[in-house]
Amino acid sequence: MSNLVTGTNNDLIEQLSEQLHSREKKNLFRRRLTLESPQHAHVSIAGREYLAFCSNDYLGLAAHPELIAAACEGARRYGIGAGASHLISGHSSAHHALEQALARFTGLPRALLFSTGYMANAGAVTALMGRGDAIFCDKLNHASLNDAVLLSRAKFSRYSRGPHLDLAALERQLAASHARRKLVLTDAVFSMDGHIAPAARLLELCEKYNAWLMLDDAHGFGVLGSQGRGTMAHFNIRSPRIIYMATLGKAAGVSGAFVAAQPEIIEALIQHARSYIYTTAAPPLLAHTLLKSLELIEEEEWRREKLVQLAAALKRELQSLRWRLLPSATPIQPLIIGENDQAVRISEALSASGILVPAIRPPTVPRGTARLRISLSASHTMEDVARLGEALRELDRSV
Ligand SMILES: *Cc1c(COP(=O)(O)O)cnc(C)c1O
Repeated sequence: MSNLVTGTNNDLIEQLSEQLHSREKKNLFRRRLTLESPQHAHVSIAGREYLAFCSNDYLGLAAHPELIAAACEGARRYGIGAGASHLISGHSSAHHALEQALARFTGLPRALLFSTGYMANAGAVTALMGRGDAIFCDKLNHASLNDAVLLSRAKFSRYSRGPHLDLAALERQLAASHARRKLVLTDAVFSMDGHIAPAARLLELCEKYNAWLMLDDAHGFGVLGSQGRGTMAHFNIRSPRIIYMATLGKAAGVSGAFVAAQPEIIEALIQHARSYIYTTAAPPLLAHTLLKSLELIEEEEWRREKLVQLAAALKRELQSLRWRLLPSATPIQPLIIGENDQAVRISEALSASGILVPAIRPPTVPRGTARLRISLSASHTMEDVARLGEALRELDRSV
């Protein structure tokens, strides 16, 4: 290697190392935990057991014995790898059956599976929207939605400068837009706040101004609505304007995502969504497992009832703290701390006492609103919530 090449390379490494140090100094450095156990209310890390309030496994299905059995059966029936993309020879009867089951479950005409929610958002938004189109976004939308908008090259408008969900601002923007196609794009349940988007009012605006409404129901699917049918069921809305997206790695406990909509939209995604076309299909055994997961979501109402009870108990446990829970009717219960270093200190102190709650910091959430994102699961017990309450009250006195 010539000196020139080595020198350049060292510069790059030095730059990176400076960036990383500055991130660490601002308490923004992120580290991964390494789990040695299945995802559950109690997890094992470096030989120690923790009570965890971190996962999006809201219904407690991620390690359910019936799903494990379905995965094994799926592996025997379909093997492990899909071996090709959906449009070549990777689309199996397990994928197909799951798409039909998801369409029926959501009450929309057709559904299409993607390997992850990130890919579903990227694929759907870029296939349907382009230059000359306009996309209207809430400021707290998930990063995958923002990335999808940038990738689509459509005009990116945020309709909430001050508080999020500023529908008056959205209406002004929709009224003023002369774009060829308009799309209102929103988290149905905001992932770091637990707020439910006012989907019925958003739909009315879309009808009035001839726009599409895309709902990202990553945190509502399986959790909200009768039988866990999600945010559309929660508001009892239906419309050919709705493009519904949900993930299958959170409440459904497995992996993947889907988009459900009118047949023409789904066909357009099959033809044009690059994150659908240019990637290997997810293992069919996962689709086979998800068919079982969908049955449990539909039949086991007690899991959603339990989440409601746990959330009520948590609110009682934490009502005396100086820190406030955001109002949330979902299993996402964020405790606002404010400063990054304080949030990190509390999260670390909890971890030292065997309880895991992640500190969420900017840029994931707005500056000055660092928080503990407490997420509840049907696999938690009332005693688990009481233990978290006690630990936080103790920290409130001592930090
Ligand atoms: C998790 C999440 C995604 C991404 O889904 P993955 O399947 O994890 O890639 C998309 N949108 C929202 C709102 C999410 O919370």
